Amino acid sequence: PARASVIDGKAFSQTLVERVAAAAARLESAHGVKPGLAVVIVGEDPASQLYVRNKGETTLKAGMRSDTHRLPVETTQDELLALIAQLNADAGIHGILVQLPLPKHIDSSAVLDAISPDKDVDGFHVVNAGRLAVGLPGMIPCTPLGSLMLLKDQLGDLSGLNAVIVGRSNIVGKPMAQLLLGESCTVTIAHSRTRDLPALCRTADILVAAVGRPEMIKGDWIKPGAAVIDVGINRVSSRDPVKAAEGKTRVVGDVDFNEAVEVAGRITPVPGGVGPMTIACLLANTYTAACRAAGVDPEE
Ligand code: NDP
Repeated sequence: PARASVIDGKAFSQTLVERVAAAAARLESAHGVKPGLAVVIVGEDPASQLYVRNKGETTLKAGMRSDTHRLPVETTQDELLALIAQLNADAGIHGILVQLPLPKHIDSSAVLDAISPDKDVDGFHVVNAGRLAVGLPGMIPCTPLGSLMLLKDQLGDLSGLNAVIVGRSNIVGKPMAQLLLGESCTVTIAHSRTRDLPALCRTADILVAAVGRPEMIKGDWIKPGAAVIDVGINRVSSRDPVKAAEGKTRVVGDVDFNEAVEVAGRITPVPGGVGPMTIACLLANTYTAACRAAGVDPEE
């Protein structure tokens, strides 16, 4: 059997960012609205700082307004809620993202639920989860949205396909399941209590791995020809023992890529698969939010 074709999420995401940038420019020239994204970060976590910087740079590259609010680690929950209220009321800001994790003294869900659902570009607000579940327009979480875009680009019509999603988190697994159900897949959600996970995975025409366990899903868990979407981002020590001893790491997915690529029909690599789609979808969501605020059809 032929080796799987490797899905280039990086190239796809670049095209998506260009499309969103062009649409945002049209929105600004035709309606005088420049989409604006506010990113809020509390504390100094280096990984979070890097994510926030990347988001800001990509937002500017897409010709949108980017505001970054860097707050000290001792910020109180009330101070953070006051900033959210101010951003909710700011007509120039269409998307609000609070970088997670927040410091332990702050209740993350209270903060996320304070964001206006219409500006909740991460799609984590309970109202947006509800809208997705009942099929109303809302904000869709970026990682599952990006994964769905790759699948539709690769496979076209998904209807009738068996989809197995490993992982049931509110930010990836569950919304992914809702999206694939919306595409008329037959959806199964697996998790840590699932019995005989390998056999279940072998029934999948579409296998989405969102587990957070390095290379857990093996080649013989995969149905020949299946489309495999690997959402996992896991840091493991370098293969080179000398570099490993120096503390050097590399990033792997939840799927054993080298095995899976021999069995699957298509597969996303890690890095360079789903990861880059997440920021691109954040911009797409910000553009959508700006259109809705202006009463303009986002597809225009
Ligand atoms: P969570 O830790 O919130 O959820 C993991 C899920 O996997 C849980 O539902 C858990 O089951 C399930 N699980 C854990 N162990 C097993 C097992 N042995 N067998 C079957 N299921 C298992 O993770 P997230 O959903 O937040 O993230 C998943 C992965 O995706 C991570 O690697 C993360 O880094 C990555 N990620 C990547 C993003 C991107 O590409 N930009 C964005 C977000 C996440 P149970 O519920 O029973 O505990």
